[in-house]
Amino acid sequence: MVSVHFYAWVAIPPGSEIDAGVAAAMEPYRMNEDQQESDAEDDTEVWDFWTIGGRYTGALDGFDPLQDPENQETCPRCSGSGVGAAPGEDCPRCRASGRVATSPQRWRRHPGDVQPLHRVVHRDLPATLVTPAGIHQAFTVDGASWTDERGGMRAALDALEPASLIVVVDYHR
Ligand SMILES: [Zn+2]
Repeated sequence: MVSVHFYAWVAIPPGSEIDAGVAAAMEPYRMNEDQQESDAEDDTEVWDFWTIGGRYTGALDGFDPLQDPENQETCPRCSGSGVGAAPGEDCPRCRASGRVATSPQRWRRHPGDVQPLHRVVHRDLPATLVTPAGIHQAFTVDGASWTDERGGMRAALDALEPASLIVVVDYHR
């Protein structure tokens, strides 16, 4: 099964504990492991893994997680020397820097990935919005035809308390 990552916003009530709040909001949409293939189009079973931030770290505020030294490690190809196969040649993996980015699942939690709703309403919508009232996809697919559902997603955001917290979530299915 090919794993595909999605950019989601999870809306949780103001004052929520972030990890517990997101976990509770996401739980109803966990994939049933027995039905991963057959229910791939079932919109109530959307994920088999999620993390806060992940590869979408910084999506709300433009922060670049690759520039954070804590999200980098010693280049495994050149052991940090920056030197390529031949003396004087740059390591192609790290481009001579000796450092490479770690995997997004290990990136440091970025505070900007949690923002009050009123600060993000002007942002580009995510692929998926999870609120206490339900789940919304920006687009739905039926065979070869796509339906733009962003109007419904906007309406769902408008229905939330303005002080709701929006959390960037990277999930895959
Ligand atoms: Zn290297």
